[in-house]
Amino acid sequence: MPLYIEKKPEVLITEEGIRTDGRKPRELRPVRMTVGILDKADGSAFIEWGGNRILAAVFGPREVHPKHLVLPDKALIRARYNMAPFSTPERKRPGPDRRSIELSKVIREALRPAIFVENYPGSVIDIFIEVLRSDAGTRVAGVNAASMALANAGIAMKGLVAACAVGRVGDFVICDPNHDEDMWGDADMPMAMLMESEEITLLQTDGPMTESQFKEALELGRNAIRFLYEMQKEALKRPYQVIERSVRGD
Ligand code: ADP
Repeated sequence: MPLYIEKKPEVLITEEGIRTDGRKPRELRPVRMTVGILDKADGSAFIEWGGNRILAAVFGPREVHPKHLVLPDKALIRARYNMAPFSTPERKRPGPDRRSIELSKVIREALRPAIFVENYPGSVIDIFIEVLRSDAGTRVAGVNAASMALANAGIAMKGLVAACAVGRVGDFVICDPNHDEDMWGDADMPMAMLMESEEITLLQTDGPMTESQFKEALELGRNAIRFLYEMQKEALKRPYQVIERSVRGD
């Protein structure tokens, strides 16, 4: 017997376009980004986005184990997306499952084009994404955090990768689907872009959209991603702007 039974809200979006969490269709949930919070990792970042709490850690470039995975002319990029057992309403079985294996691959492929892999021949860069609390959109939140963690590790990059999901509920194209919309909405479309060039490095859709809804969703996603990118840059600069004082007792 499940301990937690979810109920579909009667109305996902009102005729006036008000969503279950009070947002308008084009609004993002609150986002907070913090860089460099782990001292044992080469780079790290933490993202709080709606109810999501996600930590990203980067190790490398470092020696590859096992050795047979070495790529002599470039870096090997590995990514692991993991959901903590306590990150979901019902305890999630620890360890990898089909979904986390797929998301690890999707996230790796979203980030890899940003990295100058030729700069680190024969080494590995490991990216860990730990979902501590999940609330829809964890893959895009993970991409944003991991991209900042890579930059924080000093990895040579063509640019940051920023990501956001968009979707559709009825006739409304919406930004940043929440949990209700992810579960019961009509379409969900996570996307990521390598910034500056705005090359799309992740685009998935499930659920039908007309061509005009798709175009609207793409534009909405692009704008949200540009906004998140500005936040990432600010978060990356922040530690270097801190002024520290210590008061001596003598
Ligand atoms: P994303 O997190 O990128 O939106 P999904 O669409 O697969 O990926 O998942 C949507 C949401 O469903 C997750 O963010 C999470 O809140 C919830 N979820 C995913 N897997 C589980 C699970 N095993 N148990 C409970 N909730 C889950």
